[in-house]
Amino acid sequence: AKGEGRNNFQYYRDSMNSAMVERANMESKLREAIRDNRLFLLYQPQADLRTGEVIGVEALVRWKDPELGMISPSTFIPFAEENGLIVEIGTWVLEQACKQAVAWLDETDYPIKVAVNVSAVQFAKGNFQEVVRNTLARTGLDPAHLCLEITETSFMEHIDRIDVVLEEIRELGVLIALDDFGKGFSSLNYLRQFPIDILKIDRGFVNELSTTSDTGAIITAIIAMAHALGIKVIAEGVENTQQLECLRERNCDFVQGFYLHVPQDGRKIPPLLVIE
Ligand code: C2E
Ligand code: CA
Ligand code: CA
Ligand code: CA
Repeated sequence: AKGEGRNNFQYYRDSMNSAMVERANMESKLREAIRDNRLFLLYQPQADLRTGEVIGVEALVRWKDPELGMISPSTFIPFAEENGLIVEIGTWVLEQACKQAVAWLDETDYPIKVAVNVSAVQFAKGNFQEVVRNTLARTGLDPAHLCLEITETSFMEHIDRIDVVLEEIRELGVLIALDDFGKGFSSLNYLRQFPIDILKIDRGFVNELSTTSDTGAIITAIIAMAHALGIKVIAEGVENTQQLECLRERNCDFVQGFYLHVPQDGRKIPPLLVIE
């Protein structure tokens, strides 16, 4: 029995070591990917539910490692938030997305907006307003064509400063979207307390829309409340026509999801903007 205990301990220690090695390996690979420009962006269209027109796209970062293959942002973003690499990644994503938007605007004259995800860790850095201002200046993107998607984690962790940062960013003319609404402990208070233009209903809610009637009632209430506060609503994760119709009945403004478009290469966006 004693021997077994030792083996278990040994096993535990080995697996802990290998987890640490894996983390260290992942970190150096991620640093390499940033350095060698191996991260890239895909863009998922967001459409007006009334007209069907694409009104914007969300930039979603991708990482393809030559050995490990595609690594999901759900894996490497939380990791990058822990080790701080997210600040560098986030700045790169912002710059890249703004450049792309400028290119689309030149190419098509279509008033498309680009939405960029911002991590709570980026707000914690203190100079995020500067990063946004400088990136807009450098790329020449009209601020009205940029939307920043933030989650409530930002509010919870840096609640003392974030309202000031958001106000400054909004004064530039940039839009603010509250992402993943309904996923965590979303407080209705956030909607009142912070300057938000757009609320994104989490895809968990949308997913249940066709099966659970309570979810429908909650979505109806969220949309009515947002509209009463002058906030527009995007439903994310729309995967089928039933969900789309439920959202239409409930006066949702915009939709995003695989049913409409999966995330696309930037070059595939302009043809999607052509209105027949
Ligand atoms: P998110 O911000 O909620 O982004 C939406 C995610 O839902 C994307 O996953 C998108 O591909 C996926 N999605 C879109 N439509 C559907 C659908 O109809 N059904 C389902 N099941 N999924 C759908 P993705 O690209 O894997 O990104 C996952 C998360 O990683 C994002 O969730 C976001 O939190 C984070 N992320 C991605 N790119 C960035 C980035 O540039 N910066 C930061 N900070 N986070 C990012
Ligand atoms: Ca133009
Ligand atoms: Ca998002
Ligand atoms: Ca989301």
